[in-house]
Amino acid sequence: MSAAMRSITLLGATGSIGASTLDVVSRHPDRYRIFALSARNSIEPLLEQCRKYRPRIAVLSGVAEDRSLRRRFADLAGCDLRFGAPALEEVASHPDCDSVMAAIVGAAGLAAAIAAARSGKRVLLANKEALVMAGAVFMSTVRESGALLLPVDSEHNAVFQCMAQQGSARGSSLVRRVLLTASGGPFRTAPLERLDRVTPDEACAHPNWVMGRKISVDSATMMNKGLEVIEARWLFDVPPERIQVLIHPQSIVHSLVEYVDGSVIAQLSNPDMRVPIAHALAYPERIESGVRPLELGAVAPLAFQDPDPVRFPCLGLAYAALRAGGGAPAVLNAANEIAVEAFLGGHLRFTAIAQVIDETLQRVSGGTGDTLEAVLDADRRARRTAADCAAALIGNAA
Ligand code: NAD
Ligand code: MG
Repeated sequence: MSAAMRSITLLGATGSIGASTLDVVSRHPDRYRIFALSARNSIEPLLEQCRKYRPRIAVLSGVAEDRSLRRRFADLAGCDLRFGAPALEEVASHPDCDSVMAAIVGAAGLAAAIAAARSGKRVLLANKEALVMAGAVFMSTVRESGALLLPVDSEHNAVFQCMAQQGSARGSSLVRRVLLTASGGPFRTAPLERLDRVTPDEACAHPNWVMGRKISVDSATMMNKGLEVIEARWLFDVPPERIQVLIHPQSIVHSLVEYVDGSVIAQLSNPDMRVPIAHALAYPERIESGVRPLELGAVAPLAFQDPDPVRFPCLGLAYAALRAGGGAPAVLNAANEIAVEAFLGGHLRFTAIAQVIDETLQRVSGGTGDTLEAVLDADRRARRTAADCAAALIGNAA
């Protein structure tokens, strides 16, 4: 292996971020090799990826030990297949890997992302829920281990790049505001009275990005941006009152940083996750991502507007949880996961997602949120209450 060769563990390989990461990696076989790939239970897609990328280890974290499956992966892809969630932490902290792409969706990705941080890896973080739930714990783990945390979420990757212009302005009083852009999702202009009846497929039909179903629904409610406000608070050490959300339907400007002198620095690109993925993979260098060049003349005019709090109540709920502090963001995240799952299952109305979260935040105390155990406890309690709230709303609607 050459000195510059990086060995990568890709958690959530069979998802949308996973596929984009493999696309970028495959363009640079001289720089990156895949050490491990994981999926929850997508056996065939994972096997296909293993045949192509030849990792040393593959993980099916949601599948129980199965000897014939292990043999199939060994015979067809030459890799060692592991089962169960603890194997995620194992490959995330393995001494033979130096970079971990954390691209599992939801709270399920937290333990492995923390394990990667604890073992001092380059942590490429797509799994925003990990930081939303356990921001204080995550950031202190990164500080103590000397891990390098690189944001993959396009907005945060943009802010990271805008701050690098200033020689890392994290926590700096020179930053007046961080402006996170949001497309507004598929219902930005839909009549408000229609939102009660929108279907999961309509909610997942994002105008600019093709993503997993959970984050697509989050984009439609704008809870995605709420989670990102919390993510930005931790990544850049900026208080909530200095983080602002701006609707920008074209998704060309990925975010902006305003400095005290009035300068506003933005990062722009075509909406394609391979841009932030390539940036995080190569940082502080740059590599080709495969994304076509941005032709501003063809995408102009670019529009910006403030979000409507009535259309997007989830955004206000996220700010409220962030201000409440402690484990409140973990409660918010858990309630959102339960509500979105019920909506995607066709049981809960779209507009009831915010109701479930609001009620759960009122009923569940987040606790201190200052240890992983405290965060996981808040997560468990919130899931139970959110499931009760959702069941009551489903019952009322029946
Ligand atoms: P996805 O649903 O397409 O893929 C999720 C991946 O995680 C799959 O490989 C799946 O097998 C695995 N997974 C799902 N549940 C799991 C569980 N319980 N345990 C272990 N593995 C599990 O999701 P995605 O769109 O790729 O998003 C992944 C993460 O990246 C999310 O946190 C999302 O918010 C974030 N993100 C995604 C995008 C995007 O464009 N897709 C952009 C920014 C941030
Ligand atoms: Mg984003």
